[in-house]
Order: sequence, then structure tokens, then C-alpha cells
Amino acid sequence: MDVNLLEVEQLRKSYKDAEVLKGLSFTLARGDVLVVAGPSGCGKSTLLRCINGLEPFQSGVIRLSGRDLTAPGVKWTEVRQKVGMVFQSYELFPHMNVLDNLLLAPRKAQGLSKSEASARAASLLERVGLKDKMKSFPRELSGGQKQRVAILRALMMKPELMLFDEVTAALDPEMVREVLDLMLELATDGMTMIIVTHEMQFAQAAASRVLFMDEGEIVETSSPDVFFTFPKTDRAKQFLNIFHFEKKERRH
Ligand code: ADP
Ligand code: MG
Repeated sequence: MDVNLLEVEQLRKSYKDAEVLKGLSFTLARGDVLVVAGPSGCGKSTLLRCINGLEPFQSGVIRLSGRDLTAPGVKWTEVRQKVGMVFQSYELFPHMNVLDNLLLAPRKAQGLSKSEASARAASLLERVGLKDKMKSFPRELSGGQKQRVAILRALMMKPELMLFDEVTAALDPEMVREVLDLMLELATDGMTMIIVTHEMQFAQAAASRVLFMDEGEIVETSSPDVFFTFPKTDRAKQFLNIFHFEKKERRH
């Protein structure tokens, strides 16, 4: 039987005495696109950071392809090659051009030759229409272009799982689309992804499943069609109301 790509079991995480993740459990099969939604402060970023080894946690188990990531001998540097993460702020290296930003990690961590890594970078840049920006520096790119390069930089490692933490939240509206389109394309190509986003229409289109969190707990897991039309819980209904406006009659 094919093991799940990711298994999270009873994950608990506290900062000092504040429990931020209160025993989360879920699994992700290969090719799943899980959208994680929930109010600010409910623990979405913390969850992603735990999966990527950026935060230690108090208890619970995270398995990638059946392998317990907290077992002795597991190297997070190796795990991070399999789990790519993209943040709201692009975190490109400002003093390096686009190509060098893309080459750095695979050359260092995977020992790829310069020609192999350059070929990989060229084909990714070509795919998103940014090949002519290869020699540009991050400051010469628009926000949307920077964020797409940041996504490509994660893809350079050929990850098995991609984590996206509100990657369009800092972008001007006209640039949001090009980034979401790239993510949709990755989803169509079968990439396994966990996406934290407030772009609800996109979430509905991209997700194979929606996990709704509140106050460090999973409140509801649903198919996108169910979640966005008939959410099962009142907390999810309240949350979705934030994105809904009704036209009011003018008083005067
Ligand atoms: P979300 O991404 O859903 O907005 P976060 O995972 O960023 O939520 O935060 C969850 C909770 O943990 C919040 O109450 C936040 O204030 C707290 N928190 C996040 N990071 C830290 C930290 N480094 N130290 C202490 N508390 C933190
Ligand atoms: Mg967050």
C-alpha cells in the first residue's frame, strides 16, 4: 500500500505556556492540495513551520513518506530539500541575480554541477516566462515576479511537498493573479501542496481539501465545494462571512 506523503499526528506546540497547536492530526496523500484556512493567530504559520522543521514542537509525530521526522538521525537539512516553503516576504538574496538565487541551494545542498543546475533553472524560468530576467537583481523585479522567482527557487530542489504561507498577501492585486496561476499550474501538474491563503476563490479552485483551524485546533475538514457552500460548523460560517458583503439600500 502506498504510504501517505505526510502524516501529522497529535501535534502539540507551545510558546512558553501558551499552547498554539492543540493536538492536530491529518494526512496528505501524494498530489493532495490542502488549503489551510482560519482566523489570524489560529496557528497556520506555526503548523507549516513545524512541518518544515523551523519550529521545535512539544509532542506528536510528523512523518514524511512514513519516516518520523523527529527520530534520531534525521537531518533537517535533508528534510528541507524534500519540503519547499515559500513565505509572504520573498526572502530572495538581494545581492544576487535571479539565476544565482536559483542556483545556490541545489549547488550547495544537492551538489549539482553548475551546468545541471543552470539547465534546471533555465527550464523553470522559461516555463513562467521569466527567462529574460535571469540576470536581473531582485530590486529590478515587480513583487509578482519576485514571488514567482521565490517559488521557482523552492522548486529547484525538486521537493515532494510545497508549503505556501500567504504568499500573495503583500502583493498588489494585479500581481496576485500571476502568482496564483503558477500555484494552480503546479497543482494541476500533481505537486503535493499545503497552502495558507485568504484568497478564497482561488482556494476553492485549487484545493482538493480544506482544513479549517481556529485557536490551534482543526475545526473542520471538508471538500472545497462543501466548505465554501455549506460549511459544517458555525465557526467556519462566521469565518467565511468575513469575505462576504451584501449590498445595502442607501438611506438618503
Ligand atoms: P497564523 O499564521 O494563523 O496567523 P501563527 O501560527 O503565526 O498564526 O500564530 C499562532 C499563535 O502563536 C499566535 O497567538 C501568535 O501570537 C503566537 N506566536 C507565533 N509565533 C510566536 C513566537 N515566535 N513566540 C511566541 N508566540 C508566537
Ligand atoms: Mg500566519
